[in-house]
Amino acid sequence: MRSSLSQKLTRDGYDRERKERQMANAFTIYWGATGWHGYVPGDPLLGAGSSDFIGKISPGDRVYVTNIAGGVLRLLGAFTVDRITTASEGRPPGVTWEAKEYLWPEASSATSFAFRALSLELVTSLRFEGGADQVAMDRHAPGKVERNAMRAIRRLTPASAQALEEALTTAAVVPDTPADKRSRERLPAELLRQVTPDLIFASIAALLNGALHEFGESTDYDLITDEGLRLPPKAVFGLALARALHRQILPKHFSAGEGSACFRLLREAGYHIVPKGEMVPADIENDPDTNEISLDTYPEGGKLLRQHIGRERKPAAALAKKADFIKKHGRLFCERCQADPVEIFGSEHGEACIEVHHARVQVSHMPENHQTRLEDLQCLCANCHRFVHRLLRRGLPITAN
Ligand SMILES: [Zn+2]
Ligand SMILES: [Zn+2]
Repeated sequence: MRSSLSQKLTRDGYDRERKERQMANAFTIYWGATGWHGYVPGDPLLGAGSSDFIGKISPGDRVYVTNIAGGVLRLLGAFTVDRITTASEGRPPGVTWEAKEYLWPEASSATSFAFRALSLELVTSLRFEGGADQVAMDRHAPGKVERNAMRAIRRLTPASAQALEEALTTAAVVPDTPADKRSRERLPAELLRQVTPDLIFASIAALLNGALHEFGESTDYDLITDEGLRLPPKAVFGLALARALHRQILPKHFSAGEGSACFRLLREAGYHIVPKGEMVPADIENDPDTNEISLDTYPEGGKLLRQHIGRERKPAAALAKKADFIKKHGRLFCERCQADPVEIFGSEHGEACIEVHHARVQVSHMPENHQTRLEDLQCLCANCHRFVHRLLRRGLPITAN
């Protein structure tokens, strides 16, 4: 009976019925400070981003945005979902943060953004469908909500959804805390990740050329450049971030130090960061081509090649060159024979077959502290690189292919 009835419904009618049936569903979601980055109390909620809305939340559902500060559960606002998109399908206007999936609010369904402090009585009465059905309380601090208790997307019981709906207008609106203010000024990790090795390389060159910045000297750590010079890591990252985002970056916009995204990304770009005064671990000589035959066999080219390899053993410059090359060409390939090892060997492993070669032949004429420029470097496949080194070793001219 039921299936013949639904077959009679028009497509529109079916969609409407489905939407109405799901109106009953209500969820809590959680925002850290980056979720409300750019919001001022009173602004309407513009949507939400996450990695796992799809399959849980449907159009027509009501979403309550929560946050915990100092053990107090705060209701930041609510909206009814109009549609859900993946990042490639677009994001709601005004939503600034990167996410895999977005919720778009139905027209006029969104409340304003505010810090609404929920009473302990209300918090302990909240119930969820399935799984852990209550808001977990901190075992060590009576009356405080446990920090990670609300981080998952959780479906409210109808009665609890009603209680939160009422709290939107009745709960006490409290000012933001000093910690909120501080963390709101921090840029989200998605933005920090736009700092790529080529941008770090460029900001180091700018600092060595005396670029002005707001970061001051480093108190605890040094970043060691390829040339062995010491620079304040936060300043290096801040300048690179300004290049990535095309805006002014101040010290309050991100944190540095062990465990920070700043230090991790600088290290991934090939730089050592050491506590002030500490030495850098020494490099190990390991050029496959020089191991094969002693450089002394070819006195005319040996010195040249030795210096050449010395300049090439600079991981940060090589990583910067590769990042820059991919931005310009969309992929890595050999500049000499045009081979694309990624096509042959597959993505991650193929990239390992592209090496960075110092294309300026007269490296011996460079001053010892010459700053490598990315234009001096070339991406070569391992075969071409070995071939070019052979010519260098024998003192033969290197012709462009
Ligand atoms: Zn090649
Ligand atoms: Zn080389």
